[in-house]
Amino acid sequence: MGFLDWWLDLLYPPKAKCALCGRGRAGGVDEDLCIVCKEELAAWRQQLRPCRRCGRLGAGEGTCPDCQQVPPAFSLARAVGPYQGVIREAVQRLKYGGGRRLAKPLGRMMAKEVLGEAAFGKPELVVPVPLSEARSRERGYNQSALLAAELAMGLGIPSMPGLLAKHRETLSQARLHRPERLRNLSGAFVVLEPKVLAGKQVLLVDDILTTGATAGECARVLKAAGASRVVVITVATALSRDSQL
Ligand SMILES: [Zn+2]
Ligand SMILES: [Zn+2]
Repeated sequence: MGFLDWWLDLLYPPKAKCALCGRGRAGGVDEDLCIVCKEELAAWRQQLRPCRRCGRLGAGEGTCPDCQQVPPAFSLARAVGPYQGVIREAVQRLKYGGGRRLAKPLGRMMAKEVLGEAAFGKPELVVPVPLSEARSRERGYNQSALLAAELAMGLGIPSMPGLLAKHRETLSQARLHRPERLRNLSGAFVVLEPKVLAGKQVLLVDDILTTGATAGECARVLKAAGASRVVVITVATALSRDSQL
């Protein structure tokens, strides 16, 4: 913790504030969130259903069209919430506002999600989606690695940020169509310690799942290097293509 963080914690004790929006909390002592954020998160669960496979949110039940056409290399992906409202703000702060302190409550929320969904199985190690070296230098940290460390602590399993590396920069996936996306990612990720992976169930962590192509490519590479199963948890997820909302 830097001096400024320490000083801010002293001035504004984090326990007294909502972890997502920073407003005063109305919950109990071990509650991270204020009542407004809690209600917002509860509301989306009633309106939207995750695709059984990729977890992107839509109005319908079952599996989204993308997963039906080309099932991803991961077995399951889930998120704390949709990329909107308080979750969207939290992800942006985590990435661009130096919001390192957000990793702790968000990691805890991800752990709760993993423990509450039986289909996650029994992951044995946590692996964050890596940034390229250049991006990592520019930002000073990898937000997914911060999340992975907190999540791993919550689950009582190791986090291995050095296991997967991104050895070249890719274009922003959001602007590309599906075939271009796959070409864009091809060969970008490499497993540095395949011995550790042999036969292991891996929990892959990222801040956001947009198209699922990045998580899918990481899962493909991890499985090719020996992982037996890959599941994915993110803070935020996109709305699926069939969503009317
Ligand atoms: Zn709040
Ligand atoms: Zn899907």
